[in-house]
Amino acid sequence: MAFSICPLCGEVMHGLPDMDDLAAWYAKNHPDLPVGSVITYSCMDCTHEYAIGESVISRDREDPNVYAISSIVRRENQPPLLIVHTPNGVRRPLAVTQIRLVKEWESETAKPVNGYF
Ligand SMILES: [Zn+2]
Repeated sequence: MAFSICPLCGEVMHGLPDMDDLAAWYAKNHPDLPVGSVITYSCMDCTHEYAIGESVISRDREDPNVYAISSIVRRENQPPLLIVHTPNGVRRPLAVTQIRLVKEWESETAKPVNGYF
C-alpha cells in the first residue's frame, strides 16, 4: 500500500484516488522512486478554498466546537488564516493546519452555533 503525507499538516493518507495501478502511477509520476514509496501530497483540508460562513472543526480533539469562518486573512503565496469566534465571542485566528472541514457524515450532529459571528 502506497502512502502519501501532507507536507503542511503531516496527515498520512493511503495513496491517491488515481493510484489503482501502482506500477503505472509510479512509472508516470515518479519513475525515480520505487513503486510504493511514500510521497508528499497536500491534503484536501489544507488545500481547500475556505469561504466565509463555512463550517470547520478543530483538529484538536479536546476542542469539540464547530466554528463558522467569519473572515479570512490572505497573504500572497501563503495559506490563508481563518478567523472564527469561540462560543464566548473571542476572536480566534486559525491556520488551515489547525482545522478541517466538517465531514458530510458529521453535518447532522455538528452544526454551527448561532452567534459565533
Ligand atoms: Zn494537510
